[in-house]
Amino acid sequence: MTAIGVDVGGTSVRAGVVDSRGAILDTARGATPSGEAELEDVICSVVGSLAERHPVDAVGLAVAGFVANDRRTVMFAPHLAWRAVPVADRIADRLGLPVVLEHDANAAAVAEYHFGALRGARVGLLVAIGTGIGGALLLDGTLFRGAHGVAPELGHLRLVPDGRPCACGKHGCWERYCSGTALSATALDFLAQYRGRSTALAREAREPGSLTGRKVAAAARDGDPIARRAMAELARWLGEGLALVADVYDPELIVIAGGVSESSPLFLDAARDHYQSMVTGAGHRPLARIRTAHLGDDAGIVGAATLAIESGA
Ligand SMILES: [Zn+2]
Repeated sequence: MTAIGVDVGGTSVRAGVVDSRGAILDTARGATPSGEAELEDVICSVVGSLAERHPVDAVGLAVAGFVANDRRTVMFAPHLAWRAVPVADRIADRLGLPVVLEHDANAAAVAEYHFGALRGARVGLLVAIGTGIGGALLLDGTLFRGAHGVAPELGHLRLVPDGRPCACGKHGCWERYCSGTALSATALDFLAQYRGRSTALAREAREPGSLTGRKVAAAARDGDPIARRAMAELARWLGEGLALVADVYDPELIVIAGGVSESSPLFLDAARDHYQSMVTGAGHRPLARIRTAHLGDDAGIVGAATLAIESGA
């Protein structure tokens, strides 16, 4: 069987034809428009172009947003137009193909479980660190979604009382200290404290909004001391958050995914140390192994397609 997996993100819609072994046979992509109807047009267009070239049995959509427990409806997606929209049925009607819908971190976890870094984990947790934090929990290969389909919402655990404000309305959420966006915010805080020192990072930060997490990571790689301090802060908060999450779920394996994971040599060892020092009962219990994801950007596409194939569509 083959299916088309579609990763519907805030900036692009990426699709791939995927076989039952997780191999991507062909790809297509389009830019994410702001309107609801236009977004559905782009999805149907990229899927249609692939379906013309390959026989496919079903379509899986991985969406950065809350998916209802029936997995037919997107309830809310901060960077997409859908608000309580029956996306799966609408797209299925237009394409004439069965469609399954899944949260993007869940789809990535399914892909990593079948073909990547979560393989064989009985209790496996995926923490995707990009613009924010997405989480997914797999129990014996089955996604745990909670009673209403939104678990585990890890990024908005409050780690810092009265901390940085978050778009969710709270203060001090984990992703405000441990994400690409957080890396930039922390570096800007440090630059303000060390004003007058002319570093390459300070030059990058002259234009408001120009210092991205990616640029901070690149500067840290080049040895910039402020970027390295910002990276050490990210490592600390990653370790603290993982210790909290491990106390709740006691996972066997934690996989760090998302764009920030590409810089893992700069923070993962330090994060592990913080995790081991903060987890309850350290030294007297087995600890989860922590490693980085294997499938990179393709995990959403492969996972969504695998769920479509598994649904027997
Ligand atoms: Zn929040």
